[in-house]
Amino acid sequence: MSEYFGNIKTGAVTIATGMSITLKHFFNALNRKGDAGVDDVDYFRQVDGLCTLQYPHEVIPTPEHGRYRLDNNIDNCIGCGQCDRACPIGCITIETIKVAPDEFALCGKTSDGQQKKFWIPVFDIDVAKCMTCGICTTVCPTECLVHTPVSDFSEFDRSNLLYHFGNLSHLEAQAKRNKLAEIQAAALAEKEKKASEANKQAN
Ligand code: SF4
Ligand code: SF4
Repeated sequence: MSEYFGNIKTGAVTIATGMSITLKHFFNALNRKGDAGVDDVDYFRQVDGLCTLQYPHEVIPTPEHGRYRLDNNIDNCIGCGQCDRACPIGCITIETIKVAPDEFALCGKTSDGQQKKFWIPVFDIDVAKCMTCGICTTVCPTECLVHTPVSDFSEFDRSNLLYHFGNLSHLEAQAKRNKLAEIQAAALAEKEKKASEANKQAN
């Protein structure tokens, strides 16, 4: 008989202990860990408070040195194409047009004084494909292509994940192509004329 009541007592104590732990966590869940951010060395040592956040209303700040979404400072880009060739995914698309001799000043220089020799009508990065490996930023000679701490760049429309950094409109690009083609045709005609004259003199 005493064993019977002993088992009931043990069961009641076990339930009470379990419920007290559950209630402790229940009320503890009303607290937050605070907004110290993952950079805080104590962030993951905090025992109290919710682990989960009500995203996107609550966001853990990304570190300043975070390397997420790519950005290109096109003013410093020389159109060398090294990033495009190095990307293992093929998410960078570049189209360049040689700068005409009389337009070097117009095209300008990079911030470290390097003369730019190409217009860049197309510099697209498909960030939906990008795996942020960083190879393109490593090979970039002017360091204009960088990762940023922006980690949330989700979109409803996938086409918005194709980022355009080109520095010419379609019309401007066509005008540059036409001008370059005229210069090259004139140079070729001049070369053929000289060759023809040289042949006549030789005969
Ligand atoms: S970070 Fe990697 S995957 Fe993304 S564009 Fe650069 S090389 Fe390509
Ligand atoms: S490697 Fe750098 S400078 Fe060259 S095309 Fe890419 S972003 Fe521009």
